[in-house]
Amino acid sequence: MPASQGLVATAETTTLTSSHVVCPFCGSARTALQEIDLGSWMVECLDCHSTGPVKTSAVAAEQSWNCRLPYLRPLG
Ligand SMILES: [Zn+2]
Repeated sequence: MPASQGLVATAETTTLTSSHVVCPFCGSARTALQEIDLGSWMVECLDCHSTGPVKTSAVAAEQSWNCRLPYLRPLG
């Protein structure tokens, strides 16, 4: 096994360890990390389609999703 395998995140990473939590809005575990544009990542709930903040890395998007609280969503 190459020494670098599993240690370095690269741009070609397509399979990530799922570390984001359930949807804070509907409680669904069906959430997906998506690269919506080049270098723009977000987590989306596949049930209610809520989305987390768009970040420049998959890890940052997951962390932001995990820290999101439902009552921080703007009204209207
Ligand atoms: Zn949801």
